[in-house]
Amino acid sequence: MERDIQEVLLSEEQIRARIAELGEELSRDYAGKNPVIVGVLKGVVVFYADMIRQIKVPCQMDFMVISSYSGTDSTGTAVVKKDVDVDLKGRHVLILEDIFDTGNSLNFTYHNLLAREPASLKICTLLDKPERRKEGITLQADYVGFTIPNAFVVGYGLDYNELYRNLPYVGVLKPEVYQ
Ligand code: 5GP
Ligand code: MG
Repeated sequence: MERDIQEVLLSEEQIRARIAELGEELSRDYAGKNPVIVGVLKGVVVFYADMIRQIKVPCQMDFMVISSYSGTDSTGTAVVKKDVDVDLKGRHVLILEDIFDTGNSLNFTYHNLLAREPASLKICTLLDKPERRKEGITLQADYVGFTIPNAFVVGYGLDYNELYRNLPYVGVLKPEVYQ
């Protein structure tokens, strides 16, 4: 696994420190709001588990699975494969995501949840690749762990063909692995 990694982009220490900072911010912003923290599976699992433990106010955990129609990246059409269990109407909802890339999936998730009339809806993404954003997507993340360059990254929950999710850091995959 390790030998397929070209470069460690974010070390375990860097990630831990940033999540602690985000935790302080989120704990302040969501004090007294009993938010529902919605994780979009499954890339987010590792980040979710670490992030939730740095949110020091009462909150509820919930999860969604979104699936993009294959071959339609241009339209960004997707379906909800697993929905949240909680009624989000009138609730403070925070979406947790692993990565904000073209924005197709987050844009879908955001508008899908917005339609349920939450009291507030915000986005927290571990990684943001603004250079990759699709034209016309104006959505922005409210909380960003790290802004990263346009490279394909794996680890800390992120996969290539379902592999590498269990790497404890975020690394750039050697191009020869996927070429
Ligand atoms: P979107 O392009 O819709 O913003 O991101 C869709 C999905 O593509 C992400 O949730 C993530 O699963 C995957 N993705 C985007 N960029 C990367 C990347 O650099 N590495 C990995 N492993 N997955 C990515
Ligand atoms: Mg994802």
